[in-house]
Parts: sequence; structure tokens; C-alpha cells
Amino acid sequence: MDALHTAFQQHLAQTSPFPLALDVVGAEGCHIHTRDGRRYLDLVAGLAVNNTGHRHPRVVQAIKDQVDRYLHVIPYGEFIQEPQVRFAERLVQELPAGLDQVYFVNSGTEANEAALKLAKRVTGRTGLVACHRSYHGSTHGSLSITGNEAKKYRNRPLLPDVHFIPFNDPFGLTRIDRHTAAVVVEPIQGDAGIRIPDLAWLQALRARCTQMGALLVFDEVQTGMGRTGKLFAFAHSGVVPDILVLGKALGGGLPIGAFVASRENMHQLTHDPVLGHITTFGGHPLPCVAGLAALEVTLDEGLAENAARMGDLFKRSLDHPRIKEVRGQGLMIAVELGDAELVQHVVKDLLAHGVLGFWFLSCPTAFRVAPPLTISSDLVDQATTAIHAALDRAPS
Ligand code: PLP
Repeated sequence: MDALHTAFQQHLAQTSPFPLALDVVGAEGCHIHTRDGRRYLDLVAGLAVNNTGHRHPRVVQAIKDQVDRYLHVIPYGEFIQEPQVRFAERLVQELPAGLDQVYFVNSGTEANEAALKLAKRVTGRTGLVACHRSYHGSTHGSLSITGNEAKKYRNRPLLPDVHFIPFNDPFGLTRIDRHTAAVVVEPIQGDAGIRIPDLAWLQALRARCTQMGALLVFDEVQTGMGRTGKLFAFAHSGVVPDILVLGKALGGGLPIGAFVASRENMHQLTHDPVLGHITTFGGHPLPCVAGLAALEVTLDEGLAENAARMGDLFKRSLDHPRIKEVRGQGLMIAVELGDAELVQHVVKDLLAHGVLGFWFLSCPTAFRVAPPLTISSDLVDQATTAIHAALDRAPS
């Protein structure tokens, strides 16, 4: 083991006993380069972050230009910082009426935390409803509404008054009542292994929230910014949330999250008491310029449309006796093998052959395919060939 690897293990806090520990020296487009001279085809995109590819030239240039102007100057909300204002303005242009103000934070989980707080203020209620097998982040509030008990049990007590309903089941909707402040839902569940709900359920969910005066929060941290074949996943159904939560790909590879709501609702954060949500670094100018550039690249280069095309190609091409199902929308795909050991084998085998695949938090029997949205059909062919070969090599 070399010195860097040893220091990685000794001085950097670890989250698992078996990190992949690729020693990265560079990345561009759909590839990651390691110190040992290897090149990996990236089917993970930093976990749905690098939608515009690694180091897209327009994103890199925007960052460089901003570095020469200013970095952090003041906590969020006090000064007029053009990068924040321009990014918010451009995002809102892509959103329907009622989603017209953006609050920038630092991550997906912080955006969810703030969305819960906003819903409590707006409704004056405390009840929170979320779905079984959901994932909303790793801080206490987001963990409270995450439906994965294995990730929660060592952290109790969590938030009170949280109720879980089955995803995509109309009968569960009666749990939403006049006590409910917010219903938080991923419009396509990600870490549950990519679960796509029925249009009728989403419509019934919207209707029930409206009827009960509860705010509907769509957590689009993973589905957002073109990944599912539309800029935002809610556009597939036309069901519009009261609060939209964004993160991951939002910053073009730099860390940022956001929640978006109506001006009227967002106004609640300004009084009684003032500073309803505050953050030192949220809306930092660097991720804002990177995010604006990434959004423009996504629109100019038709990356959502490419995600839809390449996602269909993956679905058509992934065909092997050991694949039980390929679930997904756009480039948010789960390859279901129905066998957790086989998944371990395939992910490791792919890695050994220069292809980076990855697991799900709450679905051990499938692996994820979520490459940059810039992926070409040649690279899709390369990836599917590698997956088929890994399955051929797997012990039966
Ligand atoms: N919400 C969803 C749907 C996610 O997939 C994730 C991360 O995987 C989060 C929230 C948390 O985002 P972050 O890791 O930026 O806190």
C-alpha cells in the first residue's frame, strides 16, 4: 500500500470498511483517470452529480472567471451577489408559476431540512408524511423522513410526528390529514432501486395534499437537472409540488442545494422570527456560476433529451438471462439481478474491467446505471457489452 493510501485510511474518516479507494488524478467527460494510469468509464456520475460530464469546459470557465472576481463575502441573503441572482432567475424561468423563489443552501439534505421548516411555518402544523424506502439525506430531519430503518436506528430520537405511507399506493394517502404540514416524496424513488410511480397516484397525492392543506414537497435532488429525460422529473406527470428540492447536479459538480417555493410562502422565512433559515455558505458564488453554466449547457446541448434517448438505448440493449428487469427513466436506471451476491460480483468485475458501476442504499439486488447525460451511443454499447461480459463471468 502506498503512502497516500495509508494516509487515506489513517487520517480521513471512513464511512465503510471497504471503500473503493480509486486514487483519482483526473476526470473529463464520461471518464475518470487514476494514478496507476487506468481510465474508467463512469456509470455513476458522482452519484447523479456530473450530469454535464466531468469538467465541462463551459462550467470550468465560469468557475475560473468567478475566482478572479470574488469568493465568499457574506452569509446568504445580505448582499446582492450577481451569481446567486442570475442563477435563481434562470432556474425559475424553467419552472411553472408558484415555484418562483429560490433559496440556495449547501446540499440536498440541508435543502430538505429547510423545506420541512418552511412547511411547518406556512401551515402552522407539525405532521410530516414520507414514503417507505425513501431517501432524503443523512442529517437528523432528513433521516427522520427517510424510510430506511437500517440507516436510522442508531440515531434515535429523531423528529416526532413523522408518518410513512407506501409509495405508489392510493390507499396510503388517507394518512395525509389536516394535521399534516408536508408530504415529502421523490417523484421517482432513487435509492430504493429506481421506482417509478403511476401517474394516477401522483395526481391523487397532489389532490389529497391540496384538499388537506398540506404542502407537497418533491425531493428532486437525484431526479433533477435532466437526469430522467426532462429537466425536472415532475414534468413527466405535470404534477407540480409546492416546494421543489434540488441538489446533486444543480452545481455542475460543485456543492449546492436549493429549495424553491412561491414568493408568498418563502416570505414566511423573513419574520416571526427573522432569519427563518440561515446558512453561511449557501449560495456561494462558485457553485452558483457553475450551476448556471451547467443549466445552460443542459438546455443548449439538449442533455435531457439525450438522457431519454440513451436511457432507452440502455434498456433495449441490456438483455441477458441473468437480468431480471431494467427499471428506469432517462439515465436513472436500476439493473435488477434479483441476487445481492451477483450484484457484488458484477460491480467488482466491472471495476476490474474499467467500468464504474455502483450500488443502491436500499436495494441490494440491483446496481445503478447513472452516467453523465453527455454519454454517447458508442459508450452505451461499451457499457452494455461490459455488463453482459461481467454477467457471463459470474459464478452461477
Ligand atoms: N434526496 C435524495 C433523493 C437523494 O438521493 C439524496 C442523496 O443521495 C439526498 C436527498 C441527500 O443529498 P446530499 O447527499 O447532498 O445531502
